[in-house]
Amino acid sequence: MELTFKPELLYFKRPFKIAHGVRLSTPIVLTQLEHQGVLGFGEASMPPYLGETHESVLFFLNKAAVLLSTHQDPFCIEAILKEIDDIAPDNTAAKASVDIALHDLVGKLLNKPCWQIFNGDKNNTPYTTYTLGIDEPEVIKEKVAEGENYKILKVKLNGENDKTIISTIRNITDKAIAIDVNQGWKDKYHALEMIEWLSDKNVMFIEQPLPKSNLDDAAWLFERSPLLLFADESIQRYSDMDMIKDCFHGINIKLMKCTGMHEAFKMITRARELNLKVLMGCMSETSCAVSAAAQLSPLVDYADLDGPLLIKNNLFDGIEFINGKVTLNELPGIGVVAKS
Ligand code: MG
Repeated sequence: MELTFKPELLYFKRPFKIAHGVRLSTPIVLTQLEHQGVLGFGEASMPPYLGETHESVLFFLNKAAVLLSTHQDPFCIEAILKEIDDIAPDNTAAKASVDIALHDLVGKLLNKPCWQIFNGDKNNTPYTTYTLGIDEPEVIKEKVAEGENYKILKVKLNGENDKTIISTIRNITDKAIAIDVNQGWKDKYHALEMIEWLSDKNVMFIEQPLPKSNLDDAAWLFERSPLLLFADESIQRYSDMDMIKDCFHGINIKLMKCTGMHEAFKMITRARELNLKVLMGCMSETSCAVSAAAQLSPLVDYADLDGPLLIKNNLFDGIEFINGKVTLNELPGIGVVAKS
């Protein structure tokens, strides 16, 4: 039977904000892709540092909608996403929203979860980290208590009160810690000194210790660091992998940086060839984009997918964390149901 492909991208035309407690919010755009009455869901999340806005995403998606309407067969994933990627450079979150919707649609048409399509073992998922922001010691203590069901804490440092923050945590728990410096250590000698100080404190790895473009110093640190170092801001897409392969032990893949599940899968495959570890991360996202990322989690080493735990107005039910472990369901596609 002939397939007729009628994609329809729907989105909130006015900024829709995810609320993070009282202080922060991140705009997102939701997409839907329809074929033969089946709907695939997608999401773009736009943290300010990627440079995408509501306007840029909607502008891009209007072009994507025209292009998608020329396709008959949603299973031509590679060809469709290549054309989407060629619409314009950058726009990685907008591209990811199309990629996620397409994977959700195809999974539903096949009646298979995406983790199965990617040959993942549902039981072989990592534990997610639970994020603690940079805060005063009293607030950090409260956050550690709130995260009691999670086995790994993600601690953000910025070069200011780093030792106080770590000591505060270590006075109350000996749980494993993953550290994200977000480019916050400006000097390689200071970075090495901090890493050595952290090396006997049950730290699993350090993410992005130095500014993203400073790869010479990253390579220097990589040769000396007693702890695993992960690139986050230093790597966006597959094409960046060769550039950073001798500067880090691993990479943080996020769908919003790399244009979605299709390219993320290619990056995981390439990381294995390069002997790089893989962390699957997320932005501030609803369970839509995070459940999409989680479909690939059986293939990676670590997960930082607690995005939905940090927002108040989640629009989807999706993957769960049971005692901190990423727990996939049997639903087809990316495993989400829109909340009514
Ligand atoms: Mg990071």
